[in-house]
Amino acid sequence: MRLQEKQLPSWFSAAIVIGGVVSFFWFEIRRPLRRSKDSKLSRNLRNGLIGITAAATVQLTEVRLSRRMSEAGERRHWRLVKWLRLPVWIETVLALALLDYTLYLWHMLSHRVPFLWRFHLVHHVDVDLDVSTGLRFHFGEIALGAPYRAAQILMIGVSPLTLSIWQTLMLVSIAFHHSNIKLGPGFERKLVRFIVTPRIHGIHHSIIPEETNSNFCSGLSIWDRLHRTMRLNIPQTEITIGIPAYRNSIASSEALVMPFVPRRTEWSLPDDGIPTRAGLSPIPTLLEP
Ligand SMILES: [Zn+2]
Repeated sequence: MRLQEKQLPSWFSAAIVIGGVVSFFWFEIRRPLRRSKDSKLSRNLRNGLIGITAAATVQLTEVRLSRRMSEAGERRHWRLVKWLRLPVWIETVLALALLDYTLYLWHMLSHRVPFLWRFHLVHHVDVDLDVSTGLRFHFGEIALGAPYRAAQILMIGVSPLTLSIWQTLMLVSIAFHHSNIKLGPGFERKLVRFIVTPRIHGIHHSIIPEETNSNFCSGLSIWDRLHRTMRLNIPQTEITIGIPAYRNSIASSEALVMPFVPRRTEWSLPDDGIPTRAGLSPIPTLLEP
């Protein structure tokens, strides 16, 4: 068996993901970044239920389709990264970067295409942001994303090994940047030069439309920088998490039917207009706290 056909052992990926999630969970209890609106228990239950439907859909759609595309690309040598005839490790790094970039584009589309937004909105109506929000994806969003993911894998030419590395890294990254962990501002400022951190993803979950429409990255932060969609100058104490029309949490059942029923005018506050922010520092820096 050639190196590209191998995969990370599933016990190894599971140990990294579970280890990451448990430690982020522990740190966000010990060092919370934002004050939570709802109790941890009710949030975990609500988001956990939505997460179960998402995980089942991932297994039924994305996992099968992605593996098949990866093996098909491997068999037919249909691989963008292969044409460059690079050493395997550079090819792997390049494929991971391209997967990350195309995921950035998908996330941006999820906000800009109304039909996709209908589903992604379920993730954003969460009134708090923590590790459990990383589970809160509507099953429709997962199902719609599966063909896109298949196209990413086939066009880039992602080997089964690279795919297993990417899936492991992505799960850890999603848990990390959704987490409510207060890192030292100096450390986070350094980290944000390379990867998405809790503070910059917190800005993406703000109720202010221009702030939600920024910081689309899921792994590396370079894509927001390149596309000028990065926003750093919002202190976390100034941020209200969620969507203006949904100022109180909704039940999991309501969240699951949300994309299929008429919904509220989401960018307007219940008795006020569209929220805005004034008087911010023009300096693009990640401010305390
Ligand atoms: Zn989003």
